[in-house]
Amino acid sequence: PAPAAATPAATPATPTETLRLRPTRPGEDEDEARPVRRPGGTAAPPRKPPVVAPKKGLDPHRRPGRIDVQAAIEGEDERTRSLASVRRQRERERRQAELELLRSDQVKVVRDVILPDTITVQELANRMAARAPEVIKALMKLGVMAAITQTLDADTAELVVQEFGHRVRRVSESDVELGLEGSADADADLTPRPPVVTIMGHVDHGKTSLLDALRATDVAGGEAGGITQHIGAYQVTLPSGAQITFLDTPGHEAFTAMRARGAGVTDIVVLVVAADDGVMPQTIEAIRHAKAANAPIIVAINKSDKPDANPARVRQELLSHEIVVEEMGGETQDVEVSALKKTGLDKLEEAILLQAEILDLKANRTRTAEGSVIESRLDRGRGPVATVLVQKGTLRQGEIIVAGDQWGRVRAMLDDRGQPLKEAGPSTPVEILGLSGAPPAGEPFVVVENESRAREITEFRERKLREKAAAGTAAARGTLDQMLARIAAGEQKEVAILIKADVQGSAEAIQATVLKLEHEEVKVRVLLAGVGQITESDVQLAKASHAVIVAFNVRATSQAREMATRDGVDIRYYSIIYEVSDDIEKLVRGKVAPKAREKFLGYAEIRKVFEITKVGKVAGCMVTDGLVKRGAGVRLLRDNVVIHQGELTQLKRFKDDVREVARGYECGLSFANFNDLREGDVVECYETELVPA
Ligand code: GDP
Ligand code: MG
Repeated sequence: PAPAAATPAATPATPTETLRLRPTRPGEDEDEARPVRRPGGTAAPPRKPPVVAPKKGLDPHRRPGRIDVQAAIEGEDERTRSLASVRRQRERERRQAELELLRSDQVKVVRDVILPDTITVQELANRMAARAPEVIKALMKLGVMAAITQTLDADTAELVVQEFGHRVRRVSESDVELGLEGSADADADLTPRPPVVTIMGHVDHGKTSLLDALRATDVAGGEAGGITQHIGAYQVTLPSGAQITFLDTPGHEAFTAMRARGAGVTDIVVLVVAADDGVMPQTIEAIRHAKAANAPIIVAINKSDKPDANPARVRQELLSHEIVVEEMGGETQDVEVSALKKTGLDKLEEAILLQAEILDLKANRTRTAEGSVIESRLDRGRGPVATVLVQKGTLRQGEIIVAGDQWGRVRAMLDDRGQPLKEAGPSTPVEILGLSGAPPAGEPFVVVENESRAREITEFRERKLREKAAAGTAAARGTLDQMLARIAAGEQKEVAILIKADVQGSAEAIQATVLKLEHEEVKVRVLLAGVGQITESDVQLAKASHAVIVAFNVRATSQAREMATRDGVDIRYYSIIYEVSDDIEKLVRGKVAPKAREKFLGYAEIRKVFEITKVGKVAGCMVTDGLVKRGAGVRLLRDNVVIHQGELTQLKRFKDDVREVARGYECGLSFANFNDLREGDVVECYETELVPA
């Protein structure tokens, strides 16, 4: 998209340009009959009351030299008098109209209109509570032809606002986010809140089992009788009434990626170490992540039921990683547990509460809510669904929240049992419905006062993201080209790759090949070289490490593909090894030519072909995967062979033209200049995006 730039008044503005008036002095073309506006916006004071003309020659007060109104009028010549009277006439009419307006119920409201650097005509109308056509008319009077979707610069918008008689408050782009995070809380307003705990540890040491076992200790759960929902976080109420919030983050990278986004959500880390296995690589990794986050650690020595359990060895091994448990004279609490036999769980919870007491965790629950997104997804039936953790204040149903570049009115709130909630206080995880899209995990959220504020902030953020992407410095991860841009900009000195292949031999061969491509300035790091389809956890791992996924003769699960699309992780499919090395080599050398890249959209199956006069053949289809989109590229596959490539020109749902149709729906479609459609053919729909070098 073209950057908002000044355009000379002579050239008609295209929809992407910001409209700007030729420089005008304020009031240049003002109607003469209008009263002069004084500073402060008040009209000229009313003229003197009309003087009743006295009878000539009979007025005793009439002194020579003094000119009264009558005399003055008599003194005027014919031409000026008529002009003056026309003006007076106009003025009378105007005041009359104003008075009538005031008397009628539509009393004129003077609004404070907040103007950012640029604003669309529609949004400007919204902010003035005016109809868009009125705004367009006002713009026309100013000599600007604008469509409803067009963007105006602040100077032009200001003139329009004045035209409507409202007050203007100009804000600069970056001011938009000012005051978004509420003010600091006074100590007096703070009350204790439950601790938020993340469980980390080596794979198979029992994190999931422990989370499940702890969850089962919830006393509130039984009576509510709800069904356990996976919302990425849950809260446990202990017999004492004390509460603990557990986060189910899918990995250390995810934990750190969340932290990188600014979400310091975890108060305490429970480090799970299997008593029969001891400290393992991911245990050490977890310790690093926890320490980096400044979160105190509680060690849960799990699987203590096993005959070969050796808790003493675990304590010993932890010493060399600067974890000194109490028994060894240190300060770190440790608890022997068995997630399987459900022993030691109460002790672990006690340890967590003790640690929480030491941390003196408090929050103000009476303010507007702030918190973080724990996870989010697009639910086919319910739309975007996000699990958020309230960290300050109380979140209420019906409130408007902004999270990253998404916003929405909280349509419904559900707890971890799927029970509806009206409000949620500090440390409460809730699932919310009503957002415009799925914000990334770790994104902070805030409640804002109204929709236009929410729109303003998200539009600003979207714009910033676009600008960033255009500048090639996207903080976002994942795509080969973004990685390349970061390497070019000197921000990244390594190429991270996650390899999934059909057989172990290929995975190893690819790993060896790409490692050889390492350059003195650019490292090649293989996060994982494994076998099998690409899963969500692969995407998660790639995302956290800004890696590209190399898929060799394997495909991604649909959930993984969905996630990759959402999070901007590049999955590249190959079936020839040298093509992998070509791509990675380009990456290492830092020169991939600008190119059009294809993005898969969806598949539709042709169920029936209709012959329609004038139009030609129309295919009645069922979308079986993803979506199909009008104007997108299409390939016609017959027995998995591409027999035509072209453009999707017509897309209909029943009789209506539509822009896109999603999976599970029927549609009618036809192609440009191609008629050989047959039942059973598959339509592959794709988009091409131009990627700058
Ligand atoms: P995660 O990879 O850390 O999430 O580990 P899981 O919770 O999936 O557990 C891995 C395996 O260890 C599973 O087969 C569990 O049944 C088993 N396991 C977990 N906790 C215990 C325990 O306390 N005792 C025993 N004997 N086995 C356990
Ligand atoms: Mg697990």
